[in-house]
Amino acid sequence: MNSADKQIRNFSIIAHIDHGKSTLADRFLELTGTVDARHMRAQYLDRMDLERERGITIKLKPIQMQYKGYTLNLIDTPGHVDFTYEVSRSLAAVEGVILIVDATQGVEAQTVANLYLALQQDLQIIPVMNKIDLPNADVPRVRQELAQLIGVDPESILAVSAKTGEGVEAVLERIIAEVPAPKGTLDAPTQALIFDSYFDDYRGVISSVRVVNGAIRSNEDIRFLATKTQTKALEVGHFGMEFQPKPEIKAGEIGYIVTGLRDIEKAKVGDTISTTKSVATALPGYQAMKPMVFAALYCQSGDEFERLREGIEKLKLNDAALDYIPEHSPALGFGFRCGFLGMLHMEVVEQRLKREFGISVIVSAPSVAYRITTTNKETKDYANPMDWPEANHIVKVEEPWMSVTVVSPNDWIGPVMQAVTDRRGVYKTTEYLEGGRLVLHYEVPLSSLISDFHDTLKSVSQGYASLNYDYLGFREADVTRLDIHVAEEMVDALTMIVNSDEAYREGRRVVDTLKDILPRQQFELKIQALIGGKVIASSRIAPLRKDVTAKLYGGDVTRKRKLLEKQKKGKKRMKTMGRVSIPADAYIKLLRR
Ligand code: GDP
Ligand code: MG
Repeated sequence: MNSADKQIRNFSIIAHIDHGKSTLADRFLELTGTVDARHMRAQYLDRMDLERERGITIKLKPIQMQYKGYTLNLIDTPGHVDFTYEVSRSLAAVEGVILIVDATQGVEAQTVANLYLALQQDLQIIPVMNKIDLPNADVPRVRQELAQLIGVDPESILAVSAKTGEGVEAVLERIIAEVPAPKGTLDAPTQALIFDSYFDDYRGVISSVRVVNGAIRSNEDIRFLATKTQTKALEVGHFGMEFQPKPEIKAGEIGYIVTGLRDIEKAKVGDTISTTKSVATALPGYQAMKPMVFAALYCQSGDEFERLREGIEKLKLNDAALDYIPEHSPALGFGFRCGFLGMLHMEVVEQRLKREFGISVIVSAPSVAYRITTTNKETKDYANPMDWPEANHIVKVEEPWMSVTVVSPNDWIGPVMQAVTDRRGVYKTTEYLEGGRLVLHYEVPLSSLISDFHDTLKSVSQGYASLNYDYLGFREADVTRLDIHVAEEMVDALTMIVNSDEAYREGRRVVDTLKDILPRQQFELKIQALIGGKVIASSRIAPLRKDVTAKLYGGDVTRKRKLLEKQKKGKKRMKTMGRVSIPADAYIKLLRR
């Protein structure tokens, strides 16, 4: 049997955001001579402009290093909860993980979440405490906390400073000693798991793969088992600082395949690539990621629509999680209703449109998709409130719930629990960490999480509480659709779904806000909020009264009356012809909430 190379170690770095994954990766790149000192810069692997500016990792990044006769394949991962799927994909390609905890912070919500992901995949875990150079590092406490969380001897936790490099070599040694060499054989039918795919303007789709069995040679005919697509591996190779083309990539290795495909949907993440001549079965894939948060994107000016379409299509090529369908609003013109993984993902898309394509968009208030069962026994998900069936056809409405983990020091537990309860959170259990920190488990509707919940949590805990969440399932919801009419016409862009017990308050708020921002018209302007055709709040803006009789001094009453009559008719016509033009910034004010 021809087994995979025993000198290979495949591993990933996982941690809560900002605990130092990318900085530790920098030290590895230096120590292994992968990047020479002259070219080194901080968070080397964060290559996207947005990543560098915001100081966050958005995409997973594979890199190959050589060290003391071993080939080390590292995958750096993002820490933010929106990008958890990037982490789980990385973990399917490796045998071990470095789990980092910041010695000034301790265990946080994504530490727990990522640890669970690694345990589920049965990976070797190397616990590392980072930032021990900082004066406020609490090494003994954090060591205890992390050891207890993983269930290991406190002494086995490595203490490092990714900044100064202290202790970093010991991490590499531990990887070599403890992370198992890849299993798999060269003789078995070829199976390569796609853990990432991206679109290159010149070479088409390039897939990042972990070869599990067999090999793929350059110029070989390959097929994608799930999408049943056949093509040629135009080039294969390893991830150096640049692509390193090789004659083949084989069992146990992490590498890339240039497919030449123009459609990224054909090289789906989680699919298995094999050669046309081998009879392979598909590897277990990943749970497909599904957009959870929806919002409409409109251009600031109407003539930018084509550019917006182009921008979104381009982003979609490299972002399989982004969903979009064109939408038209009489008020805001043409736009797209988009689906995102979460709020940070939405922000990233908005920022990339601006930065990479120069398009400023108006983003509507985000909402979740509701699952509606109608009287004809059909069940469908609705991302756009405008598409909701008539109220009398609705049998049941359900909304997505999340399982939520909050890690907080004991001192802030009161306000933290209050904040979650205020958002309709249902308490489940608490775990105690050594050193006075708690892990709280809740179930919370996603719609509560997307309205600045994270900010609230941070502010009630003075920044100390951290949050992670995961999809749980749909549950029955008590919500209603709120429509807004201006001059007796429905303003579709303002239709929203609200909790039934907040409907009156929300209706009042929108009506009052509109009253303040809408310009006066020639006629009286009626503003109404409606539920199921019934008005629940209304207001009026008095007309601008042009005094048509001003010139008629003297007593010709009939003439005066005639003129007033005429004016009335004119107003009526204007009113029935409708089209009160609502300025775009009025929408922005309302949509932003
Ligand atoms: P990531 O989000 O886990 O990838 O974290 P980064 O590597 O981007 O680091 C987050 C911040 O912590 C950056 O400002 C780093 O410079 C800083 N940092 C990382 N490791 C250390 C360390 O060992 N000591 C100190 N003092 N700062 C560190
Ligand atoms: Mg990072």
